[in-house]
Amino acid sequence: MNRLQGKTAVITGATAGIGMSTAIQMADSGVDLYLTGRREEKLNQLKEDLESRYGVSVTPAAFDIQDSDACVKFVDSIDKPVDILVNNAGMAKGTDPVYSASFDDWNTMIDTNIKGLLYLSRLISAQMKERNAGHIINVGSIAGHESYPGGVVYTATKHAVKAITEATKKDLHGTKVRVSMVSPGLVETEFSEVRFSGDKEKAGSVYKGMQPLVAQDIAEIILFIANRPDHVNIMDTIVFPVDQSSSTMVHRDE
Ligand code: NAP
Repeated sequence: MNRLQGKTAVITGATAGIGMSTAIQMADSGVDLYLTGRREEKLNQLKEDLESRYGVSVTPAAFDIQDSDACVKFVDSIDKPVDILVNNAGMAKGTDPVYSASFDDWNTMIDTNIKGLLYLSRLISAQMKERNAGHIINVGSIAGHESYPGGVVYTATKHAVKAITEATKKDLHGTKVRVSMVSPGLVETEFSEVRFSGDKEKAGSVYKGMQPLVAQDIAEIILFIANRPDHVNIMDTIVFPVDQSSSTMVHRDE
């Protein structure tokens, strides 16, 4: 049963990977979309594709989610109630240990994965609380459930996403607003290329000899969470590829 037809969603980080796949699947379910990311051209292309293929309305908004003023301007520009907010934009930078990692990388991860997600949650949850309706779905990670060497700040940001999800649910306790999270393991997207600053060989080695998840696998779960009846609130979903059992346990063919 499709309960999403006619709803309106904001999806952050829709220019690639999990966000883009979620946008496609939501459009296929009849959801009008506000899509964000920094790459304007990709957003405009997506608008053209999704509007012509699915007949939904797609509004692109290109801005850096680290910029709180830009987040305010974006939310002010939305002229209808937001039923679903998918806080997906996020990234990892580097795998250096605590004693040698770069402050810049740390600041970018904290400002994107924690503060950007908080800005949009703050701004959009207010109208959801007011209307006593809506659903916030945060994209966390298995890195929010366990830490690993070389991920001191990335894993900290995803632990923060878990804490933010749980505290947001509690702040909205007694309302009909739902708050959920999805926690993926290895998904083959642009994520590793971003983490290794465009080094395709290093990025490819992350998935070598194993079968990772694809963006569509996670998007399907986000759609499932969003499509539950109004009284059902899925808090979290931890999703590994079958070849992975923890952040550091990955089975690879010889
Ligand atoms: P991706 O393909 O690199 O997509 C990341 C998206 O986030 C892009 O659309 C990017 O858009 C956007 N973004 C990054 N920084 C931004 C900024 N400062 N302002 C606005 N948008 C920004 O990676 P993905 O794997 O789909 O990642 C999506 C989410 O899944 C992230 O939160 C990530 O932490 C999480 N995750 C990924 C994996 C994995 O293995 N891939 C596992 C667990 C969790 P622009 O570049 O156009 O700005």
